[in-house]
Amino acid sequence: MNEETVLFSDLGLSEVILKALNDTGYTKPTPIQAQAIPHVLMMRDVIGIAQTGTGKTASFTLPMIEILQNGRSKARMPRALVLSPTRELSAQIQENFVRYAKYTGLTSALLVGGSDMQEQSAKLERGVDVLIATPGRLLDHFGRGALLMTAVNILVIDEADRMLDMGFIPDIEKIVGMLPPMRQTLMFTATMSSSIEKIASKFLSNPKQITVSRPSSTATTVTQEVVHTSDRGKNHDLLALLKQHAGLSTLIFCNRKTDVDKVHRILHQQKLASVAIHGDMVQSKRYENLNAFKSGTAQIIVCSDVAARGLDIPDVALVVNYDMPFNAEDYVHRIGRTGRAGKSGKTIALITPEQDKYLQAVEKLIEQKLPVLTLGAQEKKAVPPQASAPVPAPAPAAKTQPAAPKPDTKRPESQPPKQQDKRPRKQDDADDGDNDAKGFGLDLPAFMSGR
Ligand code: AMP
Repeated sequence: MNEETVLFSDLGLSEVILKALNDTGYTKPTPIQAQAIPHVLMMRDVIGIAQTGTGKTASFTLPMIEILQNGRSKARMPRALVLSPTRELSAQIQENFVRYAKYTGLTSALLVGGSDMQEQSAKLERGVDVLIATPGRLLDHFGRGALLMTAVNILVIDEADRMLDMGFIPDIEKIVGMLPPMRQTLMFTATMSSSIEKIASKFLSNPKQITVSRPSSTATTVTQEVVHTSDRGKNHDLLALLKQHAGLSTLIFCNRKTDVDKVHRILHQQKLASVAIHGDMVQSKRYENLNAFKSGTAQIIVCSDVAARGLDIPDVALVVNYDMPFNAEDYVHRIGRTGRAGKSGKTIALITPEQDKYLQAVEKLIEQKLPVLTLGAQEKKAVPPQASAPVPAPAPAAKTQPAAPKPDTKRPESQPPKQQDKRPRKQDDADDGDNDAKGFGLDLPAFMSGR
């Protein structure tokens, strides 16, 4: 079958699902959907190598709904289980499920940390067809006897590579041990490695492997730039960048939860409509903030990698790396939030001298030297907060220069992160480390501080 010309109606899905798809406005399946759905419907195990943005959620949700239509769940005995690494991703999967299953009467429960245990238990007691869960919370419910896993015939492990990074594999092993051995298992991962292959061979049986690339190559649609800055001037430069890109939906990534809070506070002080997401926030606040960003009420969202992982945020025009990620691959995930579906996007990274090594790692990974953006001299000049400086003229436009030699990195280096990127993370929706935030001396010019 030619993937280009495949229609949803060619894939073996029933009328009630096609009707729901029609309601969503999707015109044709994405490559992962066209390739995976027929195999899932044939009850094969599937390993999908696909990132967020490829339509992978529907590639397992749609055939799952099709299969589950032929039966009903009993109290505390779900028939399908979807495991994902974060609360937000789980919530998104459930949103997809609800949208596609709306004419089928099938039900689902979201079992994630940060939400009321009692409410979740009551739902399980009434009987649900599909559980969508983070591993920790699922084990909590199982431990309390609220769940029987013997009827689970379909298991989905989403973002397996992230599960591995976050130290969830032992929990998943425990969960898999509670499921019937005769079941269908689907696993999705953004990247393939020997560790993921090992996990796949443990949990899946003779899987069909499907690999798809991102719908649009970031290399062609995303303009990438770096700004060399200092610890002292970083916040000032961030605000200058945001001013230049005012009006764009913007995602700002920080490496640490403490920095997410601080950057958000700074933006708030500057009366910029922003929200933040990180793992220490109560769940209701995380949803609220994400929705504020999705609806456009807040134009800027500040987050850490783990909290942002897998979030389906359409139309982000600008991704700012407040820090270069410790792990070069995270850079690729981060910038993948812009330039989607053929749209053009932009990403700018703020590089302090001690972050230069992370920039080098990224440039090595993407085999590309990132051009340096020079901010106007006026913006570069830090003004102490207490100074009653005259209001300067609007910032001149920044100009991009060809890759320039790196600035002097001989200044004393601060402690490198203590292998934070590689540390196995256990708790539900683990987040980045809490290393001390760098000096957040707010050297803002008057035009930024509203004085
Ligand atoms: P995912 O990779 O599953 O997170 O999906 C990324 C985005 O693509 C979501 O906003 C989906 O609603 C959307 N999407 C999924 N399948 C299709 C499709 N066949 N056509 C258009 N958009 C889709």
